[in-house]
Amino acid sequence: LLEHLQKSNSQVSGSPTKRAKIITVKRPTSVEEARLLLPIVTEEQPIMEAILLNLVVIICGETGSGKTTQVPQFLYEAGFGDPGGDNSGMIGITQPRRVAAMSMASRVAHELSLTSSRVSYQIRYDATVSPSTTIKFMTDGVLLRELATDFLLSKYSVIIIDEVHERSMNTDILIGVLSRVLKLREQMWKDGKEGVKPLRLIIMSATLRVSDFAENRTLFPSPPPVINVAARQHPVTIHFNRRTPSDYVNEAIKKASKIHSRLPPGGILMFLTGQNEISGVCKKLEAMYGKKALEQKSKRRQAGRTLVADVEPEEVDLGPAEQDLAFDIDDDHADQDMEALDSEDENAGLDEELGLNLDESDTPMHIVPLYSLLPNDKQMRVFQAPPPGHRLVVVSTNVAETSLTIPGIRYVIDCGRAKERRYDVANGIQAFQVNWTSKASAAQRAGRAGRTGPGHCYRLYSSALFEHYFESFSQPEILRVPIEGVVLQMKSMNIDAVVNFPFPTPPDRYTLKKAETVLTHLGALTSTAIIAPSTSEVSMATIGGHITALGKTMALFPLSPRYSKMLVSGQQHGCLPYVITIVSALSVGDPFLREEALEAEESSDDENMDENLEHIKSQSVKAKEARRIRRRAFFESQQTHASLGKSSSDIFSMLSVAGAYEYAGGGHKFCADHFVRPKAMEEIHKLRGQISNIVQVNFPGVDTGFIPTLRPPTDLQLKVLRQLLTAAFIDQVAVRKDIVEKNSSGGKKYASAKGVPYQALGIPEDVFIHPTSALSNSSPPEYIVYHEIVRTTRPWLKGVTIINPVWLSSLGKPTLCTLSKPTQNSAGIMMSIPRFGPDKWELPPVKAEI
Ligand code: ADP
Ligand code: MG
Repeated sequence: LLEHLQKSNSQVSGSPTKRAKIITVKRPTSVEEARLLLPIVTEEQPIMEAILLNLVVIICGETGSGKTTQVPQFLYEAGFGDPGGDNSGMIGITQPRRVAAMSMASRVAHELSLTSSRVSYQIRYDATVSPSTTIKFMTDGVLLRELATDFLLSKYSVIIIDEVHERSMNTDILIGVLSRVLKLREQMWKDGKEGVKPLRLIIMSATLRVSDFAENRTLFPSPPPVINVAARQHPVTIHFNRRTPSDYVNEAIKKASKIHSRLPPGGILMFLTGQNEISGVCKKLEAMYGKKALEQKSKRRQAGRTLVADVEPEEVDLGPAEQDLAFDIDDDHADQDMEALDSEDENAGLDEELGLNLDESDTPMHIVPLYSLLPNDKQMRVFQAPPPGHRLVVVSTNVAETSLTIPGIRYVIDCGRAKERRYDVANGIQAFQVNWTSKASAAQRAGRAGRTGPGHCYRLYSSALFEHYFESFSQPEILRVPIEGVVLQMKSMNIDAVVNFPFPTPPDRYTLKKAETVLTHLGALTSTAIIAPSTSEVSMATIGGHITALGKTMALFPLSPRYSKMLVSGQQHGCLPYVITIVSALSVGDPFLREEALEAEESSDDENMDENLEHIKSQSVKAKEARRIRRRAFFESQQTHASLGKSSSDIFSMLSVAGAYEYAGGGHKFCADHFVRPKAMEEIHKLRGQISNIVQVNFPGVDTGFIPTLRPPTDLQLKVLRQLLTAAFIDQVAVRKDIVEKNSSGGKKYASAKGVPYQALGIPEDVFIHPTSALSNSSPPEYIVYHEIVRTTRPWLKGVTIINPVWLSSLGKPTLCTLSKPTQNSAGIMMSIPRFGPDKWELPPVKAEI
């Protein structure tokens, strides 16, 4: 190996100090100038030497130092990615976020003056890759799936795993798998296998805390070198709030107003938690400081009218404060904190006396939102200079924390929180929670202000709270989300003993076992993988089921295993086009506009699962009216889908509206008329096309029925669909309380039978059908399956389908239902399952659209 490394080294350098470049590139002058300012550019030589002499290298460097944009270029110039050279094979770079994969690919293409087919990206819905691609940016999920079909990653010469400090689940898994791929490629190369070269791995992180990777001996037996790129940061002054306001959204607006009217020019970057908040704040700031607002204001001033009422923007509902801050601690460090703005506050009165109204800023704000589901063209706006005389204000989720570096930021406003998906392995309840970020995140956010010159960071929380309640680092994602999909991916790569997998931070055995259990219920693994419902102690020996033929097929789809199962069985029972649509809708998330969001033309928030009962109860008369209109609108849309009219499943409402959307040919008008989110509908449409493609690739000749107009399913098909849903969510059955408990009055209470459909008493907690469910108004059905439990004020069941309990005995066999005690209740009578599928396919096969 050393020989090879030295050979490739000598190939690119006459002497180790003067490295010749193999590929000459022509960069635009503006790019050449900008590059000179990037700290990493001066480190090119030591970085390339380390890469050429080691198969694994870790690079740490401040965000904005140039890692993502420059390291691929170093490699490209050194001959990697050039199909003719010794290091032939693509340069692959993974990103945890789609936004970053797309915008970094276009930036690097621009810097190298190459086309998007040479420097390309690939994300789940979209790709620019071509046979001539040399540098490929992709999301980490994309590379993970490539591993399932080509474990040696033979198309690549080097893989860069970027943003590892974020600890996204896919990134963690990738590093584990790649540590094994490296070994294999090395061994094959040593054995003299034709055309096989060692693969290189570069791990890049924004923080120095890489010990989970660098010092993990199961991962890398010999410690990889860690290169630190010297920071070139200007000092950033941190200002803590004296107290921690619970309404941080309004506090952020106030802070931005103050900065804007009193402090020198320089961009403002505001960190908030989600899309709705961001849209609300942007609207409000636009109404106060947007160009139009200021023009109107000055017109009115000229007309001699008073200003007060006009300046005040229309009240925008920013949503309930998401957290009740019980621990609002007096800040004893506050005196030491440099409260630049607050000290100016004291002067404010003086200014007024002198007739200086500093709030009267004539500078308009150029307000730009930034979040991951923002359409591509709008994402790019953050990199464009604001119009002359404007102050740039970026309102962002933590996308701007490390993935994207926005030029010209001088002030950071940090709400100190982030929205995260949390998942309780034991009961399967998940929730989006707004939590405090970590100290590491707070430092990253503050650092964004010190890129171009000295900056200021305003933290909307007290320093005492920061000290006492902030964790040092955020928890790796793998410890807080469902991992069935990942386990299935691993099994499909023949990694049977997942407990022995070199996870950077291993999930506990119980979680791994639970995932195997779900997969076994779905028929993806052999039943050695079953966990007894009552056991929480799992011995190592019981983990390690093998993948089944069904499981292998399921692993071909880039979807949750439950959805893959639906596709596979949907195909077998003649319902594929409907299942594709249903799976697309469930993957994209609730497309229905919430009453409170009806006015926002572009409101779309996959994370928007956080409603609560109080809110629904207190909805305005207007909102109720809107809901009524929507219900009627759905009813009308269902006229074209007559048999969907009487709903027995929330999922059918999605199917109905998705079908009607295709029927109408899409469009914003349809969405407005039916109170659905255009972006969600567009994504469902796209995903439908994509899943159809995957189906056709994997099962050549299968009719996916992907046609512009979905014909309504027959009653028989609807019944089959409910059975398919039951099979996919077989461990997510809920039973009305009075059916399983003699003395229960039933009503709206359900017992979730998670994992144990016939002994529905496993979980003591009652669960409820969510008020937005189509089934919540009718009389409560006895048996249901649910898509998810979301906890807000209560554990709510969402995506509910009415089922016939006799199905369970067949569909839950052999892992969930034992037939020995059939008389627990009337439903326990064993019957054979009705035969699936219509005799005749109802949809005319038409050419696939995409
Ligand atoms: P790192 O990966 O170390 O955080 P990057 O390589 O992402 O750093 O960023 C390096 C520099 O490139 C930053 O100054 C950033 O602002 C700039 N940059 C990145 N993308 C663009 C773009 N699309 N337009 C202009 N500048 C960009
Ligand atoms: Mg980066």
